[in-house]
Amino acid sequence: MSQTGSIFVLSAPSGAGKSTLAKRLVAEMPGLIFSTSFTTRAPRPGEQHGREYFFVDNTAFDQMVAEDGLLEWVQVYANRYGTGKAWLREQVAQGLDVLLDIETVGAMNVKAALPEAVMIFLLPPSAEVLAKRLRGRGDTDESQIMLRMAHARHEVEQYSHYDHLVVNDDLEVAYRTLESVVVAERSRKSRMESAAQRILQTFNS
Ligand code: ADP
Ligand code: 5GP
Repeated sequence: MSQTGSIFVLSAPSGAGKSTLAKRLVAEMPGLIFSTSFTTRAPRPGEQHGREYFFVDNTAFDQMVAEDGLLEWVQVYANRYGTGKAWLREQVAQGLDVLLDIETVGAMNVKAALPEAVMIFLLPPSAEVLAKRLRGRGDTDESQIMLRMAHARHEVEQYSHYDHLVVNDDLEVAYRTLESVVVAERSRKSRMESAAQRILQTFNS
C-alpha cells in the first residue's frame, strides 16, 4: 500500500524569492508537485489552464464554494483564488507531496483544516533587501513598491503561525534549508511505517 503524501504550505511577502525557490524545489525533488489552484482571474500570456491555475468563471467558483469543494479560498482585489479539495486529495492519495504557494490568510485556513500540513514561511533578510529585490525584478513602479512593502509588513507579522522559518539571504543556503524540511518530513514515522514493516518482515525466520 502506498503511503499518502504530505502537504507543504509556502508563504512569503512578494519579492522574498518564493517563486525562485519553489520552482527549483519542485523541479529537483521527485514526488513533489505544485498545487494547482482555481482562480477567477484571467490567464496571463503564457499561462495554461491546468498548469499555473484552473481558470474558471465566477459562476463555477460560486458553485465550488456552495458545494464546499474548496479547502480554502480568498479574494484578492477583484479575483478569487482557492485550493480544490478533491484535486488535493487525489494527489496525496497517490503518494505525491504537494506544495501550496498561497498567501497567509489562505495558509492559516489550510492549517485549521489540516493541522498536519507543514507550514513554511520565507523571510527576506530585511525590508531594505526586499525593496531592492522588488526594484531589481523591474516589474513594478515606485508606488507599487511602496504598496507591496506595506503589505509585506503585514505578511511578515504572520511568521509566528508557521512551523519553519527560512531566511532567503544566500539563495543556496535557503534552498538547502527548504529541501531539508521536505526530506525530514518524508522520514516521519507515519510516512515510513509500511517501509519499516517490510524491513521488519525480512527478519522473520
Ligand atoms: P517572489 O516569488 O517571492 O515574489 P521572486 O522569486 O520573483 O520572488 O524573487 C524576487 C527577485 O529577487 C528576483 O529577481 C529573484 O531573482 C531575486 N532573488 C531571489 N532570491 C534571491 C537571493 N537569495 N539573493 C538575491 N536575489 C534573489
Ligand atoms: P497571482 O495572481 O500573482 O498568480 O497570485 C496572487 C496571489 O494569490 C499570490 O500571493 C498567490 O500566492 C495567491 N494564491 C494563489 N493561489 C491561491 C489559493 O489557492 N489560495 C490562496 N489563499 N492564495 C492563492
